[in-house]
Amino acid sequence: MMSICEVKNKKRNMAAGALLAVILYLLLFYGSSEGSVRVSFLGGAREVGGSCQMVDTGRSLFLVDCGVFGNAGRDVLPEEPGALSFVLLTHAHTDHCGLLPDLFEAGFSGKVYCTPATARLVPVVLRMSRSFSRDKVSKESFDRALGSIVPVEFDDELIVDEVRIVFRRAGHLLGAAFMEIDIQTGIDSFRIVFSGDVGSGGSVLLAGLEQCHQADWVIIESTYGGKVRDPLPKDPFERHSVFINAVGEALRRGGDVLIPAFTMGRTQEITAALHLGLHHGAIPSGTLIYSDSPTAKKITTIYRESRMEFSKYILDLFGGRLLSPPGLREVKSATSMKVHSRSHEPSIFISSSGDMNYANSPRHLMRMFDREENLLCLVGWQSPGSVGRRLARGETPVLVRHREGRKLEKDWINPAIEILSVSSFSSHADQDQLVSWLAGIVGIDRVFLVHGEMDNAEPLQGRIRDELGLNVEIPRPGESFECDSSELVRKKTVIENAKE
Ligand SMILES: [Zn+2]
Repeated sequence: MMSICEVKNKKRNMAAGALLAVILYLLLFYGSSEGSVRVSFLGGAREVGGSCQMVDTGRSLFLVDCGVFGNAGRDVLPEEPGALSFVLLTHAHTDHCGLLPDLFEAGFSGKVYCTPATARLVPVVLRMSRSFSRDKVSKESFDRALGSIVPVEFDDELIVDEVRIVFRRAGHLLGAAFMEIDIQTGIDSFRIVFSGDVGSGGSVLLAGLEQCHQADWVIIESTYGGKVRDPLPKDPFERHSVFINAVGEALRRGGDVLIPAFTMGRTQEITAALHLGLHHGAIPSGTLIYSDSPTAKKITTIYRESRMEFSKYILDLFGGRLLSPPGLREVKSATSMKVHSRSHEPSIFISSSGDMNYANSPRHLMRMFDREENLLCLVGWQSPGSVGRRLARGETPVLVRHREGRKLEKDWINPAIEILSVSSFSSHADQDQLVSWLAGIVGIDRVFLVHGEMDNAEPLQGRIRDELGLNVEIPRPGESFECDSSELVRKKTVIENAKE
């Protein structure tokens, strides 16, 4: 049995040992030249698009996303692309991956890591945007960009240059991920989370956004950081009932339905929602659905082959018939125009572009704008000045440019067609969803808001500060932030001590 004196001595020895350990720990840490991490906001700062952040760990230099912003071209690329070790992509929208060929043209020669579905979608969208681009990248650079993409499964651990990366589901688009990046700094580890684009929970097809549990720094999008939407019903049929019922009603009164939709993501979500409508009898059975974009067809095939990303609800409901509703006809544009020009049963036409500025959707409009039985459903973002934006605002007359054969024609129209704008397909989280996702993350030292204009970023910044008490930055384009690792270790030590 120990005497009181022995117990006191033992306690004193333990305390001395702990103190020595802390001193050694701090000496080791402060003695190390490593330990700082710098994040530079090259693109997507105070703006939507051109997403591009550079991380410098001292041992490794890499990019998170490499996106196009309007005509910004190569401005967002780092000065010395040849010095980069690798690139990580959150998802396949061009404002996150569109400058990849330019990066290779400018001297980058490393690997590009992303999820398997993103690895399949990126070549499709890059080829599509290359056909529109005036600033041509050499074929060699373009091919090298596509040949350097390496797929990494969700939840697997990727280790490059002692950086550990895990892709988690973001629920924004097939393959879309947020990333947990663990960087060894001295003897501690520092976690940066890049949200990419955060899903709204409105997808008919995809499993939702996963919760991130721990991070030191969080770089999060703020596209709709200033908006609060009415909460969406959980049931996908109910969630899209305004859209589905309007389509059903138009068909029953003998009208055609035109749904202009972007080829990646929106076309597939619309197809699945129409399938739900047919399944529940809200859309008449036997209705033919024409989808006439060759790019959409390629992307739909990739969706069909990526079942592991889909929600249990939709897999249980449609199983092997996923994205193949009865009546779906994936046709060439000439075929769908032929159908639309002659007498036919009331039908649905899903056609690009989503804002009706080019491709087939303006051609369909010219075949149906003058009948009030017909319905035009606007299901996505309408770019400023576009035909879709003007129609949504009820402007009349509206100038429509449409290509018929080789001729580009221009017509002023006074639309009699019913026009409906639907917001239930939005693929970005609103303010409530962004704040609640952040609230689930433990240990945050700093938050950075990107991918949002100031009128959305500022209200979100205020709410995060007020409700979560976090330090929130809205970086300027080109601005860099360095993690003061010694300060971070001190904070962590204080937290650990407080726990004990
Ligand atoms: Zn996106």
